[in-house]
Amino acid sequence: MGFFKLGTMTLKGAFGKPVTRMYPQVKREPFAYTKGHVVCDIEACISCGICERTCPTHAIKVDKADRTWSIHPFDCIQCSSCVRVCPKQCLTMDNRYTSASTAKQMHLYRKHPLSKAEIEEQAKRDAERAERIAKAKAAAAGKKATGA
Ligand code: SF4
Ligand code: SF4
Repeated sequence: MGFFKLGTMTLKGAFGKPVTRMYPQVKREPFAYTKGHVVCDIEACISCGICERTCPTHAIKVDKADRTWSIHPFDCIQCSSCVRVCPKQCLTMDNRYTSASTAKQMHLYRKHPLSKAEIEEQAKRDAERAERIAKAKAAAAGKKATGA
């Protein structure tokens, strides 16, 4: 019986389909939920910095003034915390691993530069916000002074 089983296994191994692939010519498709690397849809990002503050390994850097979002792939442990907390859902976990490289480089995403009209609109919004804050502070100081 043992001899028969061994013979069957040998014949299967000799004439059956190979159990390995001819990598790298034949690549296996990654599984749908493989945690490969984090991708950012930078145009949807509002630079709130929640992902940066949530990341346990400090792999993310958000620069609002420079309009950039960057990640250090070698520091990322693919925990997906940033993907879960992003309020704009602009982070996704791609199921392909980071490509091999010869240097440890940040992955930098930069937003399109603002048009003149957008810059003016942003400056107007900032000025309005500053005015609201100043008014609120003045009102609070007035209440404190009168003891109300
Ligand atoms: S997946 Fe986790 S470790 Fe990687 S950048 Fe996001 S929060 Fe940080
Ligand atoms: S949490 Fe999302 S919207 Fe906020 S900075 Fe990170 S990627 Fe941008």
